[in-house]
Amino acid sequence: MPTYEYRCRDCGEDLEVYQSFTEDALTVCPKCGGSLRKLFGNVGISFKGTGFYKIPSLRGVWYRPRLLHDASVTSLEEMFDPARTSPEYEPKGWNPPGMTKRAVPGHTFGLSLNAEDRKALLAFLRSL
Ligand SMILES: [Zn+2]
Repeated sequence: MPTYEYRCRDCGEDLEVYQSFTEDALTVCPKCGGSLRKLFGNVGISFKGTGFYKIPSLRGVWYRPRLLHDASVTSLEEMFDPARTSPEYEPKGWNPPGMTKRAVPGHTFGLSLNAEDRKALLAFLRSL
């Protein structure tokens, strides 16, 4: 689960909250009862812990034509399709010359989500 950052419009308090993609945004400042604003982009969301590293930004990731280091994936739907780790998978993006089927390993975050959570994750990423 990612960490979200909020800032209070009234007292300026900053807080980090560990929340699921599907949870509603917080609206009330725990310090003063004022209204919270969710911070988006580079500072608004970060993945912490084993397997994650600091990335520049997820803003606009949904309209990038190619994903992953070798551009082998062409959409977020393909990125979160568990079938892509099978050796029988046919990547829609870049393939080595003469090769049409291969596993696209790595960056397995999201591959084990159920359909509802995957849909929520995609909707979240499209909001950035
Ligand atoms: Zn406040």
